[in-house]
Amino acid sequence: MAIKHDWTKEEILDIYNKPFMELLYEAATIHRQHHDPNTVQVSTLLSIKTGGCPEDCGYCPQAARYHTDLEGNDLMSVNQVKAQALRAKASGSSRVCMGAAWRNVKDGEEFDNVLEMVRTINKLDMEVCCTLGMLTENQAQRLAEAGLYAYNHNLDSSEEYYKEVISTRGYQDRLDTIGNVRKTNVTVCSGGIIGMGESEADRAGMLVALSTLNPQPESVPINALVPVEGTPLEEQNPVPIWDMIRMVATTRIVMPETQVRLSAGRTQMSREGQAMCFFAGANSIFAGDKLLTTPNPDVNEDMEMFKMLGLNPQKAFVKKAQPESVDAENSKYQAQGEKPRWSRPEHKIERNLGAQKKAKTKA
Ligand code: SF4
Repeated sequence: MAIKHDWTKEEILDIYNKPFMELLYEAATIHRQHHDPNTVQVSTLLSIKTGGCPEDCGYCPQAARYHTDLEGNDLMSVNQVKAQALRAKASGSSRVCMGAAWRNVKDGEEFDNVLEMVRTINKLDMEVCCTLGMLTENQAQRLAEAGLYAYNHNLDSSEEYYKEVISTRGYQDRLDTIGNVRKTNVTVCSGGIIGMGESEADRAGMLVALSTLNPQPESVPINALVPVEGTPLEEQNPVPIWDMIRMVATTRIVMPETQVRLSAGRTQMSREGQAMCFFAGANSIFAGDKLLTTPNPDVNEDMEMFKMLGLNPQKAFVKKAQPESVDAENSKYQAQGEKPRWSRPEHKIERNLGAQKKAKTKA
């Protein structure tokens, strides 16, 4: 099954608005064909430089122009970052994402320090991701050489609605940065936020922009707005859980191989709501009591939820269930007289086992 890269807004809206049970069933089926449904990656988001940003993203307390209670911080030291990464690893995280409130990366001492942070986390055998603003091709290459695994640069919304939220840089600027990352071997993480006053068509429009990238982003965070007092979006209503589940399910259907990340807004979600998101295809959460600057559930609560749902934290560098592990798991269950735990259609076997499998088939 080839990945579809020509989704239209109408097609995606049709999916988003399917009867809920059908949507969930379709998304869960696709999820099981491409991923282990009992594995969810735990990632840690570290704000390595907080506040004082010259941009005007309407949802963000780090924008210098808004009057919020946020306390800013200069760039953290490499040792501070290493200590936090070690703590994150000890509590089950396999990925660290470092965020700096910059408009764009500037060459110089601070960027050199970030490169050193990337090298340091890479040596801890964790996936390392950065979100540092706009990036040139040369800077993307330097990050790649330091061992960066992923670069995050969100599209935030549809191209049309984006203008309502941000005026200091355009949609094309964002796509250009994603394009610069794509020229390296760093994977792309790009998603958006719902609950900023956008329409369903805007949500679909954002998924069109992401799913028509070729290749599609390896990682797509779906955030529910956390309104912060003092920002232009402070009065937005909370995102209904049903919208979040629909958004996750639709993302899973249009980008089957992507890691869909259930990101900001989890403190407002019940465990049942989060479980529905995992069933619909979310396979990552961010752990830690803060998500850059907004509140996030405590890591112990998350681990309790994992236990309750029988979920395992995903190891680093495993984007989806590998056929060998699927085979091993399934034979284990079959030997015990049980049914396989998740399905795997023939096309996946063919494609993933590659030459070895094809040779066997021919023989
Ligand atoms: S989202 Fe990023 S770029 Fe926008 S204001 Fe916040 S820190 Fe700056």
